[in-house]
Amino acid sequence: MGLKDLFKGIFTGKKYDNIVNIYLKDSKCGNKIKVLLRKSYDIQRVYDEGKEAAFMINKVIICDKCFNKITIDIKFDKKYNIISREIEGGKYIAEEEYSE
Ligand SMILES: [Zn+2]
Repeated sequence: MGLKDLFKGIFTGKKYDNIVNIYLKDSKCGNKIKVLLRKSYDIQRVYDEGKEAAFMINKVIICDKCFNKITIDIKFDKKYNIISREIEGGKYIAEEEYSE
């Protein structure tokens, strides 16, 4: 085993697999916000077997321009696909709209 093998593990590490990106637009000032949700830290497991959602997050995002409070409430299935989402104080936008 050479140096090459040693470093291979570092560079092939899937660093961003643990992150879910959410894009929002503040309804007060129109600021576009990217929210990084860490699966292991921000997103909570749903323990109720009867529910479709496997994971959920309820979080308040503060707009960095006008300090408006945006409340997000998102539910995910086992594969972290969004199955329902609600928002107060802003709206969800697509990644393309955020990058415009
Ligand atoms: Zn704002």
